[in-house]
Amino acid sequence: MIFRVFAKEELENLYDILAVNHMVGAVSKGIGTSGPLFDFDFIYDFKDLRLDFSTTIHSLKRFLLPPVETLSTFEMQKETWQKHVDYNLSKPIVYFGLHTCDINALNKLDKVLWGSVYPDPFYAAKRKNMFIIGSNCMPQPFCFCKSMGTDTALHGFDMFLTDIGDSYFVEIESARAFDCISKLKNREPDVDDHNLFMQVTEAKTKQFSCHVDTTDLTKILDMEFQSEAWKGWGEKCLSCGTCANVCPTCYCYGVTENVDLDLQKAQKIKQLYSCNLIDFAQVSGGHNFRPESHSRIKYRYYHKHRGFVEAFEESLCVGCGRCGVSCLADITVPEVIASVRGKEGHNG
Ligand code: SF4
Ligand code: SF4
Repeated sequence: MIFRVFAKEELENLYDILAVNHMVGAVSKGIGTSGPLFDFDFIYDFKDLRLDFSTTIHSLKRFLLPPVETLSTFEMQKETWQKHVDYNLSKPIVYFGLHTCDINALNKLDKVLWGSVYPDPFYAAKRKNMFIIGSNCMPQPFCFCKSMGTDTALHGFDMFLTDIGDSYFVEIESARAFDCISKLKNREPDVDDHNLFMQVTEAKTKQFSCHVDTTDLTKILDMEFQSEAWKGWGEKCLSCGTCANVCPTCYCYGVTENVDLDLQKAQKIKQLYSCNLIDFAQVSGGHNFRPESHSRIKYRYYHKHRGFVEAFEESLCVGCGRCGVSCLADITVPEVIASVRGKEGHNG
């Protein structure tokens, strides 16, 4: 990895160099009950871009896995169906200021949707079209990324910025990022910069107040499959699906095929779905394999913390805490995991 340092005044120049592309970053969305709200959106003016944001309400997912996406359209021409596929690609998109949880979430999604036996060409096309600038953050009271090993990002970005006071310490991972930085006034980091970088890392580590004990978690989940704890969480869960909506790594979906009444046109549509919704496991004929709320919430946790670990030796949860913040029933990952371990509470 190559390291560089540039003064904070150069950030706008970096933005200008990249602004020939579409730009996505965190913007202010007003004030909520617990403080300022932020979300990812298209940026048209450098002044709207925030690098001092706390966790965004939603993840980046809507840019890569839109809630509704047309996979293909069909038109009857000369008594034959003509298929048309549009990957909905535009100019490359620069994602400016992603935190480590969201970078790691993309790395995890890649394993299933890009690097698997059956890659998703719609996801892969958008993923290839990205330029990622990461930025360091300080943990919020609900962040448990450290427990999930996602408080740092080793790959999955073009460059990564860490605020070290008057300057940014830059980790450079790609040739195109190196080209951009070369156009700015920059220098090699010295010993003082290294020390400042390490101080920021240490301060971040000390600020974590939320933890999840992941020791032997896959085994414990196997042992506690029949635990009464799941029934308790099932009684609380409203089956609203909000947790999957805000989660950066939930990717379950359904596909419907609609044919116009005159049989001249048709569309194949993909729609993101949540495994907590009541009809998630309902099949033709009306049978529902998971009619009870507690079985649906349980399987959501088993996919994140057991099934994915078995397949890829890492959890599908990045510890961003968004699901807990958004849940109207106050269901949080640290509390669910603690209860399955036979413990209460999650802090400390
Ligand atoms: S957001 Fe909360 S209430 Fe809604 S489905 Fe998820 S766990 Fe259940
Ligand atoms: S399950 Fe919750 S904490 Fe884990 S990645 Fe998804 S939204 Fe974040």
